[in-house]
Amino acid sequence: MNSCDSYKTEITKFELNAYPTGFKNVLNLLITSKDSIDLSIPILVVKGSKPGKTIAVFGGVHGDEYHGPQAIRDLYNSLNPDELNGAFIGVPHSNIPAFNAGTRVSPVDGLNLARIFPGNPTGSLTEKIAHCLGVNIIQGSDFFIDLHDSGSYMSMPLLIGYYSGSNQIGRQSKNAAFVFGTDVVWGHPEVAEGRSISYAHNLGIPWLYAESPGGGWLNLYQVNKYISGVKNVMKMLGIISFETNIFTPKHYLIGSGDVDKSIPTNRNGYLLAEVDLLQQVTKGQTLGKVISFSGEEIETIKSNTTGVVICMRRTPSVKPGDIAFLITGIDKSP
Ligand SMILES: [Zn+2]
Repeated sequence: MNSCDSYKTEITKFELNAYPTGFKNVLNLLITSKDSIDLSIPILVVKGSKPGKTIAVFGGVHGDEYHGPQAIRDLYNSLNPDELNGAFIGVPHSNIPAFNAGTRVSPVDGLNLARIFPGNPTGSLTEKIAHCLGVNIIQGSDFFIDLHDSGSYMSMPLLIGYYSGSNQIGRQSKNAAFVFGTDVVWGHPEVAEGRSISYAHNLGIPWLYAESPGGGWLNLYQVNKYISGVKNVMKMLGIISFETNIFTPKHYLIGSGDVDKSIPTNRNGYLLAEVDLLQQVTKGQTLGKVISFSGEEIETIKSNTTGVVICMRRTPSVKPGDIAFLITGIDKSP
């Protein structure tokens, strides 16, 4: 493994071509903004001894999601550039201000980094982060993976989300989803704008994202599933050649992955769910109830469609507009 201490680790622009083959180092992407807060975002780079494809992996786009950051660090530590054809570029903490606050969105400008790509080079801090990560990291990659989990209040099963379109992006995304190694694969016929994955999509770069039960804490089982999953995709891309486990998903789902379109609560109160993740439900079925502090039922939440529970709120404290449940379809011909 080469030592690259002679290279500047503080950079304002990242170009993989600027580094030699057999390169493994942490670079720090400096971001300045009009919010008067400057950031240094670690970029974990492993450039193989031999040419090949480049995979870019983000973690921590939401600040209360902890599996992606640790998976990226562990993965970086496990990779030997002498064994790589191509490159791995990992950004463990895409949204450092949100991580420091332990919140989904940035406390600096109140923005959700997963809703504002491609960002703005002269905008607020989060807009500038989106711009810098897009231009410097996603652009130029051959495959992009964003490792989320369901954060502090919600829960989703361990899953891979992919683009299910019939073009080349769709085929590559789907192939990668099916080797990643999750029981649940979730195809999306379209991609909502503003996401890191929509940024990649618009550049013609195939992509995946991962979700897992969050809860605002670290679960090493989920971390290890993310590590093996990214390695399986790297194997598929020819970046690594060592053996990986062959895996067949158990749940094939399809539908919009836009959690902003989930079924919300309309009252202040205490949410009692009557269904669980991956449970099949029918249109009109009661998913849960909101009760008052004294126990009076004040809202019944019913399913707006027939399908499978893919996302649900675990924290009982609710207010009007909170995401309660998201139902998606079963893919009958995956
Ligand atoms: Zn997230």
